[in-house]
Amino acid sequence: MVAFALASMLGGCNSKQEAALTSGIDLANLDTTAVCGTDFYQFACGGWRKNHPLTDEYPQYGSFNALAENNNQQLKDLITGLADKPHSAGSVDQKIGDLYAIAMDSVKLNQDGAQPILPLLKRIAGMKTQQDVLPMMADLVNEGVSSYFGFGVAADEKNSTMNIFQLGQGGLGLGEREYYLADDEATRKIREEYQQHLVNLFQLVGDDEATATRKMQAILEIETAIAKASYSKEQLRDPEANYHKMSLDEWKKLTPDMDWDTYLSAIGAKGVNELIVGQIEPLQEVNRLLKTLPVEKQVAYLQSRVIRNAASYLSDDFRAEMFRFTGQVMSGAKEDRPRWKRAVANVNGVLGEAVGQMYVQKYFPAEAKERMTKLVKNLQTALGERIANLEWMGDSTKQKALAKLNAFTVKVGYPDKWKDYSTLEIKDDSYWNNMVRASRWQLADEMSRIGQPVDRSEWFMTPQTVNAYYNPTTNEICFPAGILQPPFFDMNADDAFNYGAIGVVIGHEMTHGFDDQGRQYDKDGNLKDWWTAEDAENFKQRAQVIIDFFNDIEVLPGLHANGVITQGENIADHGGLKISFQAFQAATKDQPLPVKDGFTPEQRFFLAYSNVWAANTREEMIRMLTRVDVHSLAEWRVNGALPHISEWYEAFHIQPTDSLYLAPEKRLSIW
Ligand SMILES: [Zn+2]
Repeated sequence: MVAFALASMLGGCNSKQEAALTSGIDLANLDTTAVCGTDFYQFACGGWRKNHPLTDEYPQYGSFNALAENNNQQLKDLITGLADKPHSAGSVDQKIGDLYAIAMDSVKLNQDGAQPILPLLKRIAGMKTQQDVLPMMADLVNEGVSSYFGFGVAADEKNSTMNIFQLGQGGLGLGEREYYLADDEATRKIREEYQQHLVNLFQLVGDDEATATRKMQAILEIETAIAKASYSKEQLRDPEANYHKMSLDEWKKLTPDMDWDTYLSAIGAKGVNELIVGQIEPLQEVNRLLKTLPVEKQVAYLQSRVIRNAASYLSDDFRAEMFRFTGQVMSGAKEDRPRWKRAVANVNGVLGEAVGQMYVQKYFPAEAKERMTKLVKNLQTALGERIANLEWMGDSTKQKALAKLNAFTVKVGYPDKWKDYSTLEIKDDSYWNNMVRASRWQLADEMSRIGQPVDRSEWFMTPQTVNAYYNPTTNEICFPAGILQPPFFDMNADDAFNYGAIGVVIGHEMTHGFDDQGRQYDKDGNLKDWWTAEDAENFKQRAQVIIDFFNDIEVLPGLHANGVITQGENIADHGGLKISFQAFQAATKDQPLPVKDGFTPEQRFFLAYSNVWAANTREEMIRMLTRVDVHSLAEWRVNGALPHISEWYEAFHIQPTDSLYLAPEKRLSIW
């Protein structure tokens, strides 16, 4: 009996039906002239990469994008089906249809120009003293614009069943502190372009060049100061170092020049007696800036926050400038996404679960949910066996690890309970005004959770998303309907394919519960050390192997991967491969699969895995991802991950003379 639930669709499983399943591998994806042991990525994905050259729209295009494009078309059909018809006012169909329609209305957008944000910019310009700045920041929060720092309501990491108000670093137009601080040529160029970008935007709202330039200089001064005080991506990986719970009174003493009572009340945060501050120093730097910087400089900064937030919802000249900088300069795209794709993405962002509900009704087969649930069980069993057999971990830690594994909540396809959008208003005044109302709706929803229990049935991704996640505070793994399609999941393909593709994704998400960050949370989702000192030390030593390995990878001449920030994802890829391969072998033990399309089942497992990462990427995008992304680049999720998997060596007869070969003692071995 093949344990993977393809049987449920076929009404029983015997060898004849098993043989009727395809390999799932598209041979056109391969480049069989490449040598497996030299460049397995090229061998597995070379054909795909040649057949999918980058179009001007994409800074990176891979299997994920291809599937997302397909989903996008389906979503567009669903949404335009609503936009074309009248609906009763206030119905969710009206909201989806009207939001899409106003996003598509280029005539109105271009007529309105900067008009929708001018009153707000004027209000900011009216600030007289430094004391006006914090109340104005709260005002802007109600307009959907954050500044200087970030905030939110989420589970208390040390009391994971309860929500609590949280503050953290933020406020950087370029997102990452390194963009302000690094001194390499590529980063310097981005900074220069950012300056021009700010000048251009201010000119679009009517400032002359001299004023725009002065404002740009003030913004750079403020953001660079915040960047200097901000934590690095490496520092952000340590959950303990980013957890500071205190009373509101204590917090007021640490930031004495900020009137928190006024701020919290203005953003609707009620009953905040205690809070968690992720990063204290950057907020203290903000305290200093608010107090010492001339108010004109702060006007410039706050205005830039509004303009950049709104630009994509204003006339085409604003959008073109946003794309020129964030699309072309930062990631290397040559041409903006068509308006309809941006509109679909935005409707997805604002009314995601309402769209998702239509999507799963039409496109998600009920069998898929059942079969995924069984597949997850098999992976869970395999990981349990692996934990029980670990030679580097002691019994008491093992017991707690197994308890955590058994406590996983598994979410598949779509939520049991859908979000209620009845109080969200979508009108025909302006695109930007609708976005402001959506932000307010979101803000009120978030603030209503302060001090309330965590709703564990809630989803952190919409069902139509092509992705999956693990969330440590709820100890849950989630696989939205959007990813449960080829090349991840194929009802017509055999186990070798499905374990190699979606099976590894499942194992990957499970392993996040046990990566450098996830392992610090217990089975109830609390940040709590459940490891013996010796086992924790063993883990760190082993993780160092993959940190060092990725630090050595040169992704472009002179540019190295960041082994520290990618370690969690690399450990998860590694764990996913090991766990899923073991589950695959257990599932096919009694009825081994035949050779199909010239490849053994073991070979097909690794080809299916690799094809998930087929992609072409522009140089600018490689630079950006290497700086900001905790995932390794697509190429290295294959050529960096597989050399640590002994089963891959056996499947493809990789030899010590091959350049991808790693001696067994140099391979990662954790889960
Ligand atoms: Zn991951």
